[in-house]
Amino acid sequence: MFFINSGSEANEGAIKLARKYGEKYLNGAYEIITTINSFHGRTLATMSATGKKIWDKLYEPKVPGFKHVPLNDIDALKQAITPKTCAIMLEPIQGEGGVNEASTDYFKAIKHLCDENNLLLIVDEVQTGLGRTGKMFAYEYYGIEPDIMTLAKGIGGGYPLSALLAKEKLNIFEAGDQGGTYSAQPLGMAVGSAVVKEIISKNLSKNAKLQGEYLTSKLEEISSKYKLKNIRGKGLLIAFDLPTENGSEIVSECLKEGLLINSPRPSIIRLMPPLIVTEKDTDNMISILCKVLDEKLNIN
Ligand SMILES: *Cc1c(COP(=O)(O)O)cnc(C)c1O
Repeated sequence: MFFINSGSEANEGAIKLARKYGEKYLNGAYEIITTINSFHGRTLATMSATGKKIWDKLYEPKVPGFKHVPLNDIDALKQAITPKTCAIMLEPIQGEGGVNEASTDYFKAIKHLCDENNLLLIVDEVQTGLGRTGKMFAYEYYGIEPDIMTLAKGIGGGYPLSALLAKEKLNIFEAGDQGGTYSAQPLGMAVGSAVVKEIISKNLSKNAKLQGEYLTSKLEEISSKYKLKNIRGKGLLIAFDLPTENGSEIVSECLKEGLLINSPRPSIIRLMPPLIVTEKDTDNMISILCKVLDEKLNIN
């Protein structure tokens, strides 16, 4: 484990570790395959890993060595593998991309491909980890284990903390390869350890699962009235499609009413309530949402 401050830095470390592995064991292979609509961070290398179309022309030239393939298309992934490939990197559920889930078959096939070709599987759990999806880590839904996993967001409960975790065989960074002034700083470690203990002792993963199901059922109840489509996600990482493209307007109206949500795309609303949310909170949330949708959707 390597502890640092942000998700981007943890992913940057994962990319470096994969390249080190390629250099050591795969004749200098350095390419990493990621998915279209993925999000891996805002450092130059993690922006290059990110599959976000509107970033294509930003801060050129990008860090070379990243290929982007459509999510859940195993043939496209197979075709992208070359002797230069060292790793496949993905989010179990694309968060910023609008809550797009990798299918179980896809994940299993990726793991198989990785094993067959000695490639590393890097799972970015910055958004999905630490109970968010109803399990401690989202990869647990797929019956596989990653070689490298990154965590941030939930691990600090609001405090800047992130972690890069790797299997023992990848314990190959040498002194000076990786580090940082604030790596594993004591306050961050105390916060992270308190947060993880709280998540485990209060079984917040389970609460996320149950409350996620409750929230989903409430959204389904109002979906035909507001023409909401494609309600999706796991645990308390949920999104739906609007019949309109005014997501950001709906987000700011909700904020005025005391409800914090977001709109990762103009026609998508994403809901990520805290893991401690109750049914009463959810009822409240739905009533604010309905009030705003009544005003902003103009569908009578
Ligand atoms: C937020 C996020 C990141 C970047 O984390 P920062 O702490 O903002 O650098 C990376 N990957 C995923 C999946 C994220 O959701």
